Amino acid sequence: MKFNPLICGLILVATATASCKQAKSSIEKGDALASHIDSTTNAGDDFFQFANGKWFKENPIPASEQSNGIFQLVQDTINEQVRKICESSVATKNEPKGSNKQKIGDFFYSGMDSLSLNKKGINDLKNDLDKIDKIKDLNGIITEASYIHTVSSAPLFNMYVTQDDKNSSKYQVYITQGGLSMPDRNYYLDMDASTKSIREKFVTYVGNMFGIMGYEKTKAKQAADRLMEMETALAKTSRKREDTRDPLTNYHKMAFGKLETLTSNLDWKSFMNGVGLAKVDSVVVGQPEFLTALNGYLKKYTIEDWKNYLKFHLVNGLASYLDDKTYMEDFNFYSSTLRGIKEPKPRWKRVVENTDGYLGELIGQVYVNEYLPKGTKEKLEEIGNAIKSVFAQRIKALDWMSATTKEKALKKLNAVIMKVGYPDKWKDLSSMQIDRTSYVKNVMSANKWAFSYMINKYGKSVDRTEWDMQPQTYNAYYNPSNNEIVIPGCNIIVPGYERKMADDAILYAIIGATFGHEITHGFDDQGCKYNEFGNLSDWWTSEDKAQFEKKTKMIVKQFNDYVAVDSLHINGELTQGENIADLGGVIMGFEAFKKTKQYTDNEMIAGLNPSQRFFLGYALTWMLNMRPEAMANQIKSNEHAPAKWRVLGPLSNMPEFYQTFGVKQGDKMWRPDSLIVKIW
Ligand SMILES: [Zn+2]
Repeated sequence: MKFNPLICGLILVATATASCKQAKSSIEKGDALASHIDSTTNAGDDFFQFANGKWFKENPIPASEQSNGIFQLVQDTINEQVRKICESSVATKNEPKGSNKQKIGDFFYSGMDSLSLNKKGINDLKNDLDKIDKIKDLNGIITEASYIHTVSSAPLFNMYVTQDDKNSSKYQVYITQGGLSMPDRNYYLDMDASTKSIREKFVTYVGNMFGIMGYEKTKAKQAADRLMEMETALAKTSRKREDTRDPLTNYHKMAFGKLETLTSNLDWKSFMNGVGLAKVDSVVVGQPEFLTALNGYLKKYTIEDWKNYLKFHLVNGLASYLDDKTYMEDFNFYSSTLRGIKEPKPRWKRVVENTDGYLGELIGQVYVNEYLPKGTKEKLEEIGNAIKSVFAQRIKALDWMSATTKEKALKKLNAVIMKVGYPDKWKDLSSMQIDRTSYVKNVMSANKWAFSYMINKYGKSVDRTEWDMQPQTYNAYYNPSNNEIVIPGCNIIVPGYERKMADDAILYAIIGATFGHEITHGFDDQGCKYNEFGNLSDWWTSEDKAQFEKKTKMIVKQFNDYVAVDSLHINGELTQGENIADLGGVIMGFEAFKKTKQYTDNEMIAGLNPSQRFFLGYALTWMLNMRPEAMANQIKSNEHAPAKWRVLGPLSNMPEFYQTFGVKQGDKMWRPDSLIVKIW
């Protein structure tokens, strides 16, 4: 992905100083690129700061945000539009029950109705909590866990239906490690002072949540301590996030009977029935050792322990849709402790974002008609095609790959499907029940719809026209099973250029690099293991694979060496796929830009030449100032490096960038030829 939706990132020397001074003297007012430059920073030391620093200084991070920058600017635009869609839907009375407007309006209304929300507290979950109280045995625990999977969060493990990695024309049931309430195993295991303090605050949070459920203090504390012990046990037996990247070592297909033998304490028939899967022949288990350990824990801990575990997972998954007291507990831990956010966003913003999150498929239909700029799809297609053809030329010219592998790589590239703008058909949400009575019940209903939508795929033929993002989602993805890239329409938005289309330097730097990034995912450490049909298959000669791995090791080392917060290094192994994609993306974007009229005419805009505008535009893609807590959280639990290094990393590997900004030996971004990574 381009970046993770939860939160998928350089320069100065004699000539650079000269060119930038020159630029400064003739800056046209209002040009976003020129007006963001922090000329007190040497471009060759920190281009991220050089390109964005002035904007950062003038736009401090709001108390309600974990970061500030391009994503907030774009999201503000989208939020205003979605807000209008929500409010106009609330205002239209007498919409037929089940219609899109009725759903959008009622969902939004229920979230804004703070009066009744606060009156109810967690009462809307009372029946579910009572149901857990009545559980007598392990089978009851498993059945209840399956229910929680469908409406709230995923206790015990993750389970989903998706295309089989080895046969993309078939849907398969996957079961992978999970069951944790903090974002990653390392939060349970790291021994540094900051993580230890997070753990203490987590236990306090869990205890407070049990308090909200009515437990008296001592019992709440005991239940919280025990939950921490149980989740720590699950964390210990979980693979490191970087070790879950290899699709081959995380693929263990087994007959359903074998799964039952592997985990004899876990009644899989009850679980599958509970989620709505009547008959399952086989499953793919990601990490069998995790299930073996879980099987032991199911007996090691008491039924009472598991009941508390389930109660917490049910409420925790829905806490941000409950009364203010419960919401604030959730906020204090997940937003404040983990991400450094000082105060909640205003209610309207939270509810707009949640309505879009759950009913985005319906909102998208209005968004495309009313807000997506005309010509978006065409412009995106133009840039996408330009990138694809540059990629083909570059594969042909690679000096490290044999003709045999090149032929296969080109075959895969030519087969890449580009979905841009918005889907041709929309998902049918008619069975989803939404009304004005309860926000949390609406969320549970939407979760249930989404879960059964996924489950219902099992046994059906694969629908390759499906989209997993909405046109108003400022993000993009590559799906290896379909060998496709998906670029939603709102990617056309460039802050500062709302009234007129940005120049090609910016469009190719932001959107071109996004296309290049997503296509390169088809050829990163994971993507390279799938063929043009989306099946795991080794299409490489062993010599070429060895060359490729030598290059990827270099990029792993490059990022391992970056220190982001205090002594916390970026995880080069974990982020390698994204870093390979970023490097490919910016190289392809620049190559494609070189073929445009703006570049060949050497057109100056706001005192900046085409290459300067391209690289500044690339830094604008990642203009994001993050709180240190948020950065640490991202490093520990996300496969994307923080924004700053998504600029510094790839550009440090581009000789064209060195030339443009006069980067020389001694500058922090400068790397000797022997360390310059060039893959695609
Ligand atoms: Zn990506």
